[in-house]
Amino acid sequence: MEKDTLAIKTQIERSQFLEHSAPLYLTSSFVFEDSEDMRASFAEEKDRNIYSRFSNPNVSEFIEKIALLEEAEDGVAFATGMAAVYNTLVPFLNAGDHVVSASSIFGSTHTLFTKYLPKWNISTTYFDINKPETITAAIQQNTKILFVETPTNPGVDVIDLQLLGQIANKHNLLLVVDNTFATPFVQNPISLGAHLVIHSATKLIDGQGRVLGGVTVGFKDLIREIYLFSRNTGPALAPFNAWLLSKSLETLSLRVEKQSQNALQLATYLEQHPKVKSVKYPFLPSHPQYAIAKKQMQTGGTIVAFELHDGKDAGKAFIDANSFFSVSANLGDTRTIITHPASSTHSKLSKEELKQAHLTEGLIRISVGLESYKDIVTHFNLNLK
Ligand SMILES: *Cc1c(COP(=O)(O)O)cnc(C)c1O
Repeated sequence: MEKDTLAIKTQIERSQFLEHSAPLYLTSSFVFEDSEDMRASFAEEKDRNIYSRFSNPNVSEFIEKIALLEEAEDGVAFATGMAAVYNTLVPFLNAGDHVVSASSIFGSTHTLFTKYLPKWNISTTYFDINKPETITAAIQQNTKILFVETPTNPGVDVIDLQLLGQIANKHNLLLVVDNTFATPFVQNPISLGAHLVIHSATKLIDGQGRVLGGVTVGFKDLIREIYLFSRNTGPALAPFNAWLLSKSLETLSLRVEKQSQNALQLATYLEQHPKVKSVKYPFLPSHPQYAIAKKQMQTGGTIVAFELHDGKDAGKAFIDANSFFSVSANLGDTRTIITHPASSTHSKLSKEELKQAHLTEGLIRISVGLESYKDIVTHFNLNLK
């Protein structure tokens, strides 16, 4: 079956009521036939649900779909994307180990690397996403993990995943890719050499700004380690959220296709606009990694970044002149969302740090929604005071 079909047809077993849509299993635990059944279940001689911190039918359905879409062997789901990031990295790191990561990564992941992992003497070396030739020099004897996001937030930079897979295999590292911005319908890092793939399901997978969720998929033996760690630390995805996210996957391919189409049209429009200094979108030929984007991505994704001429003040003026769009920290929603990172999410960064993150003061990030393109472009106001 094709992936858009798998996202619809993959479903847990029907109950005795022969429902069409998967029921919601809102239960914290499951019962046993007798003492022997309970013993065998705990001994993992049986593949069955015991307690919803370990597994739950709705959560299993969601995991199975993502694993199929990402061409992965197995997966674990989490309450949030950050729980997925933390619980994916920690099982593979011992005190004294080292991580190599691109510097342009999600804010809380950056905090994990710079503030918390150092408590256990685990250090991280950052490399510039646009200089993959510097990765090898950053690798040490004790390096265990190579971590990236592509496309990046908010700069929409792209890195060659196949090249990273080769580097990881040569140096015996785990390649962990946060694929949130792309979704499984835009790129599949495992097919390009990644060992583990993470999604914040809060973003495009839910796609309607309702619930938080996270998921990690990859090779069975690695997933087993993550599962054992997380069933003890307890960041389980709630059955209701899993049920909702699994339903959302049924429409993900259509949403991503239309939102990507809107994003490409908007990026093309902005590129020729006199008030716009520059535009970044992976499927614009002017993007520095256009060739790589075309090679590894099905669409250019749903995020467009552009820069206004007059820096920070113009960025804030743009936000205030565009009330048709939502001003919000979320992304991947059906509604178009605009943000000015230099005065909000990245306001604590110095000019130098902004530069390192490939972020300029006039940069605007647009998470392009599912509205009619005509309405998006009509309401896009660049006549700033
Ligand atoms: C939002 C996001 C996360 C964190 O996900 P939450 O569900 O908010 O915990 C991680 N990585 C990326 C790339 C994100 O955009």
